[in-house]
Amino acid sequence: LVLLRRLEAYGFKSFAERTELEFGRGITAIVGPNGSGKSNISDAIRWALGEQSLRTLRGTRLEDVIFVGSANRRPLGVAEVSLIFDNTDGRLPLDFSEVTITRRVFRSGDSEYYINKTPCRLKDIHDILADTGLGRESMTVIGQNKVDEILSSKPEERRLLFEEAAGITKYKQRKREALRK
Ligand code: ATP
Ligand code: MG
Repeated sequence: LVLLRRLEAYGFKSFAERTELEFGRGITAIVGPNGSGKSNISDAIRWALGEQSLRTLRGTRLEDVIFVGSANRRPLGVAEVSLIFDNTDGRLPLDFSEVTITRRVFRSGDSEYYINKTPCRLKDIHDILADTGLGRESMTVIGQNKVDEILSSKPEERRLLFEEAAGITKYKQRKREALRK
């Protein structure tokens, strides 16, 4: 099991302040009034995992995730989210007991990804997450309407979900890459 221990956000959507959330074992529930930023937390998790769909992130431009400013606060120029995973049982293919994935984006549109503070490509993030259940199109974050969407999806689309759950996505990905060479 890959456990999310901590989330650190700065400049991401409504997180104008450097924000740290600690998650224990078991269930964490986030409560708060409408518009207080609950969904922004799940957006931050998806975004840091490499989500590219602006629609999924509830925005229209890449830089929409950057804090836009408020009555008494100036807009920020950068958004950054780090996810710190417990890797004591080695589910992530890296020789560290804690793995930190970081994504940063600037208003210019430049994006940066890091694994344990070392710059990397988005592909490297996808590679280490493949088959952990945290990969692309995985069910790590189930948004509103997703359940309906799955129930009404085409068999071929539903099959992709089962493939991810069964852990064969990695092999299909490698096959595609090999065929492209
Ligand atoms: P609900 O209970 O209605 O689902 P919520 O707690 O999930 O609410 P969110 O959708 O997470 O709320 O937060 C929405 C808030 O985040 C809005 O007030 C919006 O203005 C703010 N927000 C979104 N993007 C940005 C941004 N780039 N800069 C500043 N604030 C932002
Ligand atoms: Mg919400």
